[in-house]
Amino acid sequence: MTQLPRLPGDSGGCRDTPILKQRGQREVFCGLTGIIWLHRKMQDAFFLVVGSRTCAHLLQSAAGVMIFAEPRFGTAILEETDLAGLADAQDELDREVDRLLARRTDIKQLFLVGSCPSEVIKLDLQRAAERLTERYAPSVRVLNYSGSGIETTFTQGEDACLASMVPVLPATEARELMLVGALPDVVEEQAVSLLVQMGIGPVRVLPAPRRDTELAVGQNTVFALTQPFLGDTHAALERRGARHIPAPFPFGEEGTTAWLRAIADEFGVPDAVFESVTAAPRARARRAVAQAAEALRGKSVFFFPDSQLEIPLARFLTRECGMDAIEVGAPFIHKGIVGPDLDMMSRGPVFSEGQDVDLQLDRCRAARPDLTVCGLGLANPLEAEGLATKWAIELVFTPVHFYEQAGDLAGLFSRPIRRRDALRLEAAE
Ligand code: SF4
Repeated sequence: MTQLPRLPGDSGGCRDTPILKQRGQREVFCGLTGIIWLHRKMQDAFFLVVGSRTCAHLLQSAAGVMIFAEPRFGTAILEETDLAGLADAQDELDREVDRLLARRTDIKQLFLVGSCPSEVIKLDLQRAAERLTERYAPSVRVLNYSGSGIETTFTQGEDACLASMVPVLPATEARELMLVGALPDVVEEQAVSLLVQMGIGPVRVLPAPRRDTELAVGQNTVFALTQPFLGDTHAALERRGARHIPAPFPFGEEGTTAWLRAIADEFGVPDAVFESVTAAPRARARRAVAQAAEALRGKSVFFFPDSQLEIPLARFLTRECGMDAIEVGAPFIHKGIVGPDLDMMSRGPVFSEGQDVDLQLDRCRAARPDLTVCGLGLANPLEAEGLATKWAIELVFTPVHFYEQAGDLAGLFSRPIRRRDALRLEAAE
């Protein structure tokens, strides 16, 4: 019979470990980044950033190296006259949207994405979205959310986008499972296939590839998150009556098994069925992780807060790869979401929420971890000081969920350590 992964014996897990909270200067990307992966998932959507040339450059440079498709995003540039309040930015926005929708009849969902400049001048994008929805309904639905870097970290862009869709989802009384989070298609197909093989269904996914799918929500909807950064979406779904299935996140063999087990229990899947569906991919994942984790055993890791994946990844690295976590920093710690991952971790690491980057850098330098997981802005200086680093943003752009990617996930962490060891050898010769 398949058991839930064992919990740490006497140590009792980390859910009640005191959390170090600091507020100071932060080093994070803004939420516009999410457009890069969201526009690929939603094939009839367009993301119109209402921002500055800086926002346009950020998107172009991020997208330029990561996508090769016709863009389904753009920037309505706020000029100096808008920023100085000399022009009516709402009128200009309407004209921009009119031009866009006349040219691109394939667009069925239009997201007006707020930025730092639009928030600074208090441009009311909600009002704009309502006005434009009236004008273009029913063929185009216009929604708005903020991708600004003023208060956010980069994964909050996806959360804000998905949360903006929840209030306009149709209502349903059907008992359905909703998977929530934008995953690469191949990974999403693997997850849905495992669930369907267990007899679980219908399985819906938010975000859906197109607006006109059967995605709906109601009191009989149960939902499982595939990403730990979806706090606002979680709250929005609960407001629509849906119920969350708490579970560790599907990273690594254990995390994937525990995530599937929680859903299987909700749907009354017999143990024998669960076992027969998961046995082979579990064994493959275990073998792949064991191989990739050789370079990680006994090594220490330090997380700066960035992607909000930090706690589930620390659980994976400590339990399945034999690493020691020194500090696990996360921008936000939502125990209703990451509590099951905290339960599975042995006590020892410091958990920190928010950031005062200078103080945190002092702690990191004092600890000299074997691997530091951090944002792009910190990685190069730390590498120059001889620390091996992993860019947190890569973990969001790379397929890392579920059984078939478990070995690749461990490999993402072992590569920088192997590279640093090779450089040291070269230097010693
Ligand atoms: S939203 Fe803010 S942080 Fe992001 S690119 Fe625009 S100005 Fe920069």
